[in-house]
Amino acid sequence: MVKMLIKTKFRNLIYRILIKTRRGVGLNIVMTFACNFNCSNCGLKIPNNEYPKEKHRASLDSWKKFIKEFPLKIKDVAISGGEPTLYPDAIEFINWLIDEGYIVSVYTNLSNENLLKFRRSLRLKINATYHKESGKRDAWIERYNRLRKYYKINSYQIEHNDFEFKSDTLNLLQKTDTINHPQKNRIHVGPDLRIFTSCFDKMNYYKKDKRSLFDNE
Ligand code: SF4
Repeated sequence: MVKMLIKTKFRNLIYRILIKTRRGVGLNIVMTFACNFNCSNCGLKIPNNEYPKEKHRASLDSWKKFIKEFPLKIKDVAISGGEPTLYPDAIEFINWLIDEGYIVSVYTNLSNENLLKFRRSLRLKINATYHKESGKRDAWIERYNRLRKYYKINSYQIEHNDFEFKSDTLNLLQKTDTINHPQKNRIHVGPDLRIFTSCFDKMNYYKKDKRSLFDNE
């Protein structure tokens, strides 16, 4: 127990130092909007109760190329969804990012049994979200405790519309600021590698097209 506490504090400290000292832009990547849950309060459904549609799902190679050729220095990469591990090569991509030296954080509902395949790295943070109406509490806690032994992991219980976009919506001035001073804000990237300066813009874009998932493939 004491050992675990020391390990956790050490991991938290190193991660905090890395995040504070690295320079560059943060990327918020959505590789897939797909999810195996259907929470009534899902942030993806705000504001019109509709799920966003993927117009095209980029391949693993395209994602690697995108990162390698990104015109700005990347400080860290946050990966969310949907449930990001439903993207077939998500774990491989995350491990590749770690191997390439990036700081990586992953938002997951912990439903994937393969999460222990993540590279054990001080540069990885797992954000484990618990969804009361969709999750099986005991199984979730058991998986959380297993991961805790090897990774920096934070837990979030999602009960309300915690993911309101308002604070994430940038006005024009802020958008200009993002482009000129990317370290101040984050760049959002959709499943087809399209780039946005706010989560709000991203969701607006993917909700405009009512075609069904993967129509383009
Ligand atoms: S697990 Fe997350 S992404 Fe999936 S439906 Fe629930 S809130 Fe939405």
